[in-house]
Amino acid sequence: MLKENDKLVLKIRNAEKLHGHLGPFLVIGVRMGILAKRILNTNAGESNKLRVTAKLPLLTPFSCIVDGIQATTQCTVGNQKLRIENSQAQIIVCFELQNSDKALKAHVNPKIIDELKNGYSKGASNEELAWEIASIPESQLFTIENH
Ligand SMILES: [Zn+2]
Repeated sequence: MLKENDKLVLKIRNAEKLHGHLGPFLVIGVRMGILAKRILNTNAGESNKLRVTAKLPLLTPFSCIVDGIQATTQCTVGNQKLRIENSQAQIIVCFELQNSDKALKAHVNPKIIDELKNGYSKGASNEELAWEIASIPESQLFTIENH
């Protein structure tokens, strides 16, 4: 368990370097990327086939998710493996493996988004909320549609 956590911390720090700061939505993106790669089993030499479509409100802090995904999946706007679409409130990210029918859709649990908005309004710092998100079980963060 500790070992897994160390790996997560490294990935979060790596994303923070790309993004410029640490925050809970960046961590949501990191955790989504990790989850998608594990479920789609892309570490077995298939990671170059991964394509991502992120639907989310195109404003910070929500858009910070994108950099967490880019840092963990290497699907980026620049290499055309990541598409971003605007959404009013929902945050849904689709991960697909090209030339395969493997895909998954991750919804960020709306309750988590509400809790974060609440945290910000109570004056919690980005860092505090980031580590909170790092410690919440995946099953509470996301609803997954796998097909
Ligand atoms: Zn950010």
